Amino acid sequence: MSRKSIILPKISKGGRRARSGSPWIFSNEIRMDEAAKAIVPGAVVNVRGEDGRAFGTGYFNSKSLIAVRLLAEDCDAAIDADFFAARLGRALALRDRIYDKPFYRLCHAEGDGLPGLVIDRFGDTLTVQTGTAGMERQIDPVIAALEKILGPKTIILRNDAPTRALEGLSPYVKTLKGDSHRITVEENGARYGADLAEGQKTGWYYDQRDNRAFIAHLAKGKTVLDAYCYTGGFGILAAKAGAKEVVCLDSSAPALAIAEESARANGVTIKAVKADVFEELERLKAAGETFDIVLADPPPFVKSRKDLEPGAKAYRKLARLAADVTAPGGVLMVASCSHNIPQERFAQECAQGLLRAGRRAALIRQAGAGPDHPVHPLLPESAYLKALFYALD
Ligand code: SAH
Repeated sequence: MSRKSIILPKISKGGRRARSGSPWIFSNEIRMDEAAKAIVPGAVVNVRGEDGRAFGTGYFNSKSLIAVRLLAEDCDAAIDADFFAARLGRALALRDRIYDKPFYRLCHAEGDGLPGLVIDRFGDTLTVQTGTAGMERQIDPVIAALEKILGPKTIILRNDAPTRALEGLSPYVKTLKGDSHRITVEENGARYGADLAEGQKTGWYYDQRDNRAFIAHLAKGKTVLDAYCYTGGFGILAAKAGAKEVVCLDSSAPALAIAEESARANGVTIKAVKADVFEELERLKAAGETFDIVLADPPPFVKSRKDLEPGAKAYRKLARLAADVTAPGGVLMVASCSHNIPQERFAQECAQGLLRAGRRAALIRQAGAGPDHPVHPLLPESAYLKALFYALD
């Protein structure tokens, strides 16, 4: 059966984005006729302009706002195990140049030329996430490609991200190969436990690696509050770097249990506290307790565009409360992993929060995710992680 084509009308406002190289084409940019609507969600298509110009090969979902995600510049490109092996091989070569141990995000969707595909590597274990109907249909060739380039012992499909619903996909977690989902992550010279099947997202947040190292560098002899600690990524490294006291705060008991285990494995002590961060910060403030380093790395407060205003307010409040418990001369990090708040807005809200806390602050570092989370240059909004570090008077 020959491949179906999707047509971009000649005069279309947003089509300009694709014309200048963006890998996304929105549903209002294409001719959504009966033939297009009849194409099964996620099918591989050729994308052409009305004028005959070829935009390349992509996958299509008439039900998704991002209707087409382009995979290759040419029409009729073969999307098979060899295609995925070539893209994943390129992604692997890049990580091999950056890291000396096989612990990293191996594939970061559009940033690695594979929209909808996220793969984290933990030595010989891989977690694979497909976020779109198009990539879901390619699981078999993707796995075949991974077998070819890496031959991992364990492969776990973590297809339970809530955003899959936007593509009409249901959530599931499945071990395709191997059986051990409790593994050890090696990062910044520390060893952390992670549960790749039951843990949050893919079980470990590689995106904060470089920010953890930055904080550890400042931690010797200091007191540290790691709020929204998850399994202790920041706190344990700070303790290892010689922090005087580390309090790890989270609402998840299983995450805190892993944090305590990991602390022991690294020969350090942390104090794990199960509480709501806002409530605990209020309590600490009332008790007059402060820390030399305060980290606040919450779950996304702006889950969709309609949450922007309440989410922005929540970041402002978090910055204020976190500043209240930061000691004079201390360092505060506030992070956001919300795709839907722009960097400037996030920085503005944090600045307001600090002002309301009555603290003079100097922004000493603005960072995002590490280099194993590459960003497509024409999709700057996919740089979701923002971390702001302030030195407070
Ligand atoms: N800093 C972590 C990642 C944080 S992910 C790291 O470096 O790995 C966000 C964390 O916030 C999750 O562990 C989640 O359990 C926790 N969380 C969500 N809502 C919370 C709340 N209201 N109070 C405390 N923790 C919360």
